Amino acid sequence: MSDARIFFFLVPSMFVLFGGFLIALSMADRSLKAARWGAAAFLVGAGGILLDALRPIGEEWWRHLALTLHFITVALFIQAFARRHGEDLPTAALGIAAIASLLFLPYQPLAPSPEARLVIVQLVAFSMLATVLPRAVRWRDGRAIGRLVVGALGLAALSYLVRAGLFVIRPDTAPVTDFFASFYNVAFHLTTAVVGLALGLVLLVALGSDAVRRENRESAMDPLTGLGNRRRLHWAINSDEEGKWTCGSVIAIDLDHFKAVNDRYGHDGGDRVLIAVADALKFVFRGQRICRLGGEEFVILLPRDMTGQLSALAARALAAIEALRFEAPLDNCRVSACVGTAIRQQGMGIDEMLRRADKAVYRGKAQGRGQVNSADAANDGTRPADRRA
Ligand code: GH3
Ligand code: MG
Ligand code: MG
Repeated sequence: MSDARIFFFLVPSMFVLFGGFLIALSMADRSLKAARWGAAAFLVGAGGILLDALRPIGEEWWRHLALTLHFITVALFIQAFARRHGEDLPTAALGIAAIASLLFLPYQPLAPSPEARLVIVQLVAFSMLATVLPRAVRWRDGRAIGRLVVGALGLAALSYLVRAGLFVIRPDTAPVTDFFASFYNVAFHLTTAVVGLALGLVLLVALGSDAVRRENRESAMDPLTGLGNRRRLHWAINSDEEGKWTCGSVIAIDLDHFKAVNDRYGHDGGDRVLIAVADALKFVFRGQRICRLGGEEFVILLPRDMTGQLSALAARALAAIEALRFEAPLDNCRVSACVGTAIRQQGMGIDEMLRRADKAVYRGKAQGRGQVNSADAANDGTRPADRRA
């Protein structure tokens, strides 16, 4: 085999390698569906290039199959990036590929000349990628990885446009025996290698970072209630210190006589109550940072602009907990809680606020339970019933 022929196999080998990485990634984390689409893209892409390289000269059906595989590869790449955001490739991209594939069917009057075909193939792939670029810009969600994805897809689109331009300027379709003598071969393989490398690296990095992000999210979640756990609380405290978000007040909640609930209805019964309480809190504090710190203690961190609503929200939370009713065998179960609130004073950290809110909770325990206490105000011991009166 000549040196030139070996070069022919360089790009497909690289694609197979990326396909392998992505298969390994999808096996390591089965929820990474996008990795499977990416693997399919690289493997089909490698198949298409090999088919084209091994095609006997003048074999039109082989050529058509290789072209169709080329379009399918582009579609699979788009699908891989779209699946990361729970979307599918735009139907317009599929439509463009299907029409082009029919147009290129050999031995029919509409089939373009070999020179025109070279240019049209590039424009078809460019148009397919162009349908997804506006979405990719929307997908960025402020992460650096989002900009990389837009960059890689943009580079791919641009490379097809440049190739179309090159083949207009210098059509090169003569059957070649020497790889490097063919302008087409060199332009095609060089750009494919660069774009394939960029897409493969970006896809690997993006999917890897998705996996790490999900793992982090899950490690910061309480599996019983879906609320944040203690780790989530620490993240919130850290992001407060980094100034990305400012906490202005906290609410601490401890359910009353919860041991008795467990004793009477069993641990499973207790768990049902905890889930119901968590759902009530999610409803009252929609979109806020709500954590369960193990057991039956909950903490809600409120941003600065909600400090004015603090006591009203605390009272609503207690009322929602006391209004909970359960199905048999918990139909006689009633839940109450002590709620403590604390507002941030100048120079105070979240830890200090939490300690003060906890103290307010324990004041409630000492004063007969089922009440809201504030670490800051004199109106301690508020009960929803008092408020209604
Ligand atoms: P108090 O009114 O003084 O708060 O009384 P209490 O019984 O609620 O006392 P305490 O807060 O000390 O008890 C918490 C109990 O919560 C102890 C434990 O049995 C129970 N518990 C902790 N985690 C879980 C859980 O994940 N599920 C269930 N079902 N129970 C839990
Ligand atoms: Mg407790
Ligand atoms: Mg308790």
